Amino acid sequence: MERILLKNIDAADAGKVATYLRNGGYKGLDAAFKMRPEEIVQIMKDSGLRGRGGAGFSTGLKWSFIPSDPSLPKYLLCNADESEPGTFKDRLIIEKAPHLLLEGMMIACYAIGAATGYIYIRGEYEYGARILEDAIAEASSAGYLGRNIRGSGFSLRIYIHRGAGAYICGEETALLESIQGLRGQPRLRPPFPAIAGVYYKPSVINNVETLACVPSILERGPRWFAGIGPRKSPGPKLYAVSGHVKKPGVYELPMEVTLNELIFEHCGGMRGDKAVKAVIPGGASAPMLAGEDLDSPMDFESLAQRGSMLGSAGVVVMEEGTCMVKTAYIINRFFSHESCGKCTPCRDGTPWMTQILKRIEDGKGRPGDVELLESLCTGIFGRCFCALGEAAVMALRGALKYFKEEFYDHIAQKKCTVSTDGLHGF
Ligand code: SF4
Repeated sequence: MERILLKNIDAADAGKVATYLRNGGYKGLDAAFKMRPEEIVQIMKDSGLRGRGGAGFSTGLKWSFIPSDPSLPKYLLCNADESEPGTFKDRLIIEKAPHLLLEGMMIACYAIGAATGYIYIRGEYEYGARILEDAIAEASSAGYLGRNIRGSGFSLRIYIHRGAGAYICGEETALLESIQGLRGQPRLRPPFPAIAGVYYKPSVINNVETLACVPSILERGPRWFAGIGPRKSPGPKLYAVSGHVKKPGVYELPMEVTLNELIFEHCGGMRGDKAVKAVIPGGASAPMLAGEDLDSPMDFESLAQRGSMLGSAGVVVMEEGTCMVKTAYIINRFFSHESCGKCTPCRDGTPWMTQILKRIEDGKGRPGDVELLESLCTGIFGRCFCALGEAAVMALRGALKYFKEEFYDHIAQKKCTVSTDGLHGF
């Protein structure tokens, strides 16, 4: 498949507006300005583009929820708080194709009638934030931001908002709170952000990769986009692969690619030619897969059918010899640390799970600990205010589904029973 999102990232000065224009950039925006906003929303629906941040919701449908009342201020928020362990695909767009992101935002703002856009970028992406600041300044100087852009009558400002290191601020309603200067905790829904988003005004929140798909759809048409990959999950997809593969990195592929193809054809196979033990297909929140599941296509539906999810498409590959108790402990410790504390099952349950996993890994596990973990999973799942607590449960359930014996062995033998040099990728 031709590169669409990453097509110019190897060019010298890839992030400069002159390079972007030389390589055909901002043509999607020019095409958009020849259309009415509602036509663009319909084009997005027809393209079949689904959000690349994890939920996989139709982008065009999301945009269509914004009220058309011209008296209401509207906002576009780009979620660049890429904090899911194992995920680093948006970072490449931010650092190497910032104008592709900005062009996608401009088209989205024009389509929903927003005069202000924010990029909420994770605090650790300092380099990326500086690149985006420079790109915004360059785009403004070139007449692509500001008042009456290219004589269209449309005006737009885009601002960078840097996070402060909290994973929960990638949850869209916590992001809204954070950008307003409030504590980054999820909001109760409804009302949904399309009605009461940032400053309680209609807002669309889209992921970086989602917005980066938009310019090519406007330029080449929704049918072209819908024809790439599976019918229900069309378009190019970025997979961030880490762990025990020979060539970790970000790969742009259609979503019909299978896990086996991703690992053995694109990533060069396993380090030391060892066997694959398990794969986390969509960031730490996604339940791990193993064995026969590795023939699964990497799209939303296929992974859901296997009991996992595409999530952020952060693919962590683990070789034979990786300790699954330690893996579950590391993942759970992360979620426990990042719990915002708003609701009891997550605030109290995730540290409890971490404590039990730590003692099992340290050879101090007790008979009944596996059952206690399972009971905690039941107590947390479906009882949390947001998806974070449930993510912790899903990750642990995935490990227990395939590797429960490993947990029992650790407890019975009072030590780690798997020879390992540790989990990479986290
Ligand atoms: Fe906060 Fe966890 Fe509750 Fe989400 S599930 S609101 S992160 S305490």
